[in-house]
Amino acid sequence: MAAPQRRTDIGPPHYKDFLPPVIQKNYGNWKYHEILEPGVMVHVANSGDKIWSVRVASPRLLSTDTLRDIADIAAKYCGGYLRFTTRNNIEFLVSDEKNLNPLKEELKKKGYMMGGIGPRVSNIVHTQGWIHCHSAASDASGLVKVLMDEFAEYFTKKELPNRVRLAVACCTNMCGAVHCSDIAIVAVHRKIPQIDHEKVPNMCEIPSTIAACPTGAISPDPAKKSVKIKEDKCMYCGNCFTVCPPMEIHDPEYDGVAIVAGGKVGNLRTPPKFSKLVVPFIKNNPPRWPEVVDAVKKILNAYEKGAMKHERVGEWIERIGWEKFFKVTGLPFTHQHIDDFLIARETFRTSAAFKW
Ligand code: SF4
Ligand code: SF4
Repeated sequence: MAAPQRRTDIGPPHYKDFLPPVIQKNYGNWKYHEILEPGVMVHVANSGDKIWSVRVASPRLLSTDTLRDIADIAAKYCGGYLRFTTRNNIEFLVSDEKNLNPLKEELKKKGYMMGGIGPRVSNIVHTQGWIHCHSAASDASGLVKVLMDEFAEYFTKKELPNRVRLAVACCTNMCGAVHCSDIAIVAVHRKIPQIDHEKVPNMCEIPSTIAACPTGAISPDPAKKSVKIKEDKCMYCGNCFTVCPPMEIHDPEYDGVAIVAGGKVGNLRTPPKFSKLVVPFIKNNPPRWPEVVDAVKKILNAYEKGAMKHERVGEWIERIGWEKFFKVTGLPFTHQHIDDFLIARETFRTSAAFKW
């Protein structure tokens, strides 16, 4: 007898099964959407059906208590439907208008921060940081907390020329969307791993440790039954530490963050852009990272003051030129900003003559 058909755990369930009934019914048949408040948006279908999204910020790393609370709120007002945006905002999806105000009241009462829709700062997408990941060169939650404390008003009410997407990645592996965010922080190690030759033979598999290095900087050291690193080739990524913990990459004196700006995913007006380096290094200064907050504030303030309506940070920088960007933000221009004199024609400085 043939074995009975059974569901396996291979592959995710189809996303359409999780859409609220209003979206399922009107799929691909929407007329317009409108931002009603900084944290409330309505989508209207050609049929006249409506669905409201109520957005709140989340710290991304959520406790089970908070998750239960969020699920209870969604069950009470949204038939259980909510979504997390790519920036980890929580959006409660309300199909029945009479639930809209009670939901907002409850969110307010419980201290959730509503906002983030439209031309303002949205939730800061970030990675694990010291709280979880082994290769982190900085904290992520801590940085995000201090930045959001500073920029909360840009989430809840104040408007900017266009949306500003912020991101934090706690090492150059960049699990966050740092490369394509308007302003982003990427944590960096700046020293080659320190090898503990006594532990390497017992704790590490040499071939996979060598294979883990993207630049081919690691080679065997047969005399020590260990490995060695060619310093010039190392880019401090920490991949080797991931597979071989006795290759310690962390160093409190040398670890910190860089800041990049001008990236975006959207292709409205101009194609998507990669972020570019604006601050090469700021040493970690927990718990409040005042120097990082100050640098981001300088960029945001200059953008708010100088950008035209609808200009994203990258578009504003390209219009005024990088020269002026460093002038209006007051950030120092350093040799680290020059990445290639000969080949990269679209980077900041490609010849000895000033281009902008
Ligand atoms: S960005 Fe780096 S340190 Fe942060 S979670 Fe990803 S791999 Fe880990
Ligand atoms: S830190 Fe990265 S580049 Fe340097 S040796 Fe380790 S794997 Fe290679």
